[in-house]
Formats: sequence, structure tokens, C-alpha cells
Amino acid sequence: MKDLFNNWKNVSAKIKKSAFILLLLDFDGTLCPIVSHPDLVKVDKDILSLLNKLNKTRSIILGFISGRPIADVRKQLKLKNVYYVGNHGLELKKPKSTKVEILAKGKIKNSLSLMRDLSKKLENEIKRYKGVWLEDKKYSLTLHYRMANNKNALIAKRIFSEIVGEIEKKKLVRVTRGKKVFEIRPPYKQNKGTVVLKLKKIYLKKSPLLVYLGDDVTDEDVFEIMNTRDVSIHVGNNKKSKAIYSLKNVRAVADFLKRVYCLKVGELDA
Ligand SMILES: [Mg+2]
Repeated sequence: MKDLFNNWKNVSAKIKKSAFILLLLDFDGTLCPIVSHPDLVKVDKDILSLLNKLNKTRSIILGFISGRPIADVRKQLKLKNVYYVGNHGLELKKPKSTKVEILAKGKIKNSLSLMRDLSKKLENEIKRYKGVWLEDKKYSLTLHYRMANNKNALIAKRIFSEIVGEIEKKKLVRVTRGKKVFEIRPPYKQNKGTVVLKLKKIYLKKSPLLVYLGDDVTDEDVFEIMNTRDVSIHVGNNKKSKAIYSLKNVRAVADFLKRVYCLKVGELDA
């Protein structure tokens, strides 16, 4: 990966000459630092203001692609006329629509009862271990152990493999091991990458420049489907990412957004 700001000349030229930009961003770890509990998240005022400004820019369409349910991310960003994708690509809300669509609905229907069952079993086993907790997002489950001490984190991993291991082997669910979390999803190939392709297709005629920023394992599904014309940006220091460019942290993301705005609109007011 190349440091984005060290290669700014190339990237800024692309951004400048593109008549239409599809600017898609992950949420946790990209627009805000990862926190011990998802409810504690806070997006910096500067970033919110930049996103608002970019959203008013005609040549840019914004989208937010998260593992969280859409309602969660909307509550934080409060932006209208943008794309929201939640539950790792299982939920989609288009800019002009008031409804949240469930993608691959037919396929995931069969997995929902299994999700309920796993949710109950995991909850029962983990509840006595401090710092380990389950987030039930209906279409997907996240087992968190960020707040657990080493001993409880090990217990969480053991419980997880006892309850989910066999089911995962039989490919009845798909598991991603993220930052101190296990994500359990239906086994179908419906992920952040498949949704980003879908969004890109909507604007095919405008041949958009796709810019994607993300920090975690699930964002790799997007980096994988991007081509050399697109701008893929990994946030953080995972050297193994398939993205072409990297940014150090959320603060650098804010700097990047500011630069994009300046390129497309002009200088920011002081
Ligand atoms: Mg993230």
C-alpha cells in the first residue's frame, strides 16, 4: 500500500478531473475511532460538517457502508439524500427512498431462525463473563470481547467455537473475525463488496470515480472488487490490506475529506 498523502498528486488529479464521484465510507474506525461499546461512538463535529458540505456538492454522491444496522448510522450522521448500507450489505437505503430494503431477502430467510437460535445460545453462555456481550442485529450477530480481560476473551473464543464452530464448518453461517469481534452472517455472498458493485452499476452511465475508505476485514470485500481506476483507501495500519492507498487514522480521513472538498468546490471558509 502507498501512503495516500505521499501520492497525493496522482490521486488529486483523478479526483479533480472526475465529473462524478461515488464516495463511499465505512463508519467505525473510519469516520470515528473504535470505542469500547458501539453506543459510545461519537463522530467529530469537523467530520460531520465536512460530510454535510460534500453532500451538497453536485458532483459527489455519498454512501455509508457499515456492519451496524442502518438506523444506528443514520442516528449518528443525520444526513439526508445519501446511501446507507447496514448489516454488512444486507440492508440498503437509497437517497430518495424512505424505506430500508433487505437485500437477498429470499436467501437469508432460511438463516433467520438459525440466527435466533445462535443468538439465544450465545447469550446464555456468555452473560456471566464480564466484558463479553452479544449484539443481535437480526440479520447478523456480533460477539464483542473488546472490554473483556484476557481470561474472559479466551473464554469468549472458546464458547464461540463450541457453539458456532460446527455450524460454520457446515457453511450454514459465515464468520468474520474482526477487531475484537466475531461477526456471524448468513452464508450467502452478500457483503459490502456486492453492494458497492450494485451502487456503482446504478451510476454506470456517469462512469463514476469510486472512492472507498474502510478499516476492517469486512472492507476487504470492497477493495477486492475495485479496479485500478478506482481509489481504494485502507484506514489504519493493517499491512495486508488489498487497498492501494493507506491513511493513518480517522484524523487523516478528515484531512482527506477536506482536500476532496477543496478540489471540487474551492477553499473552505475559515
Ligand atoms: Mg470499520
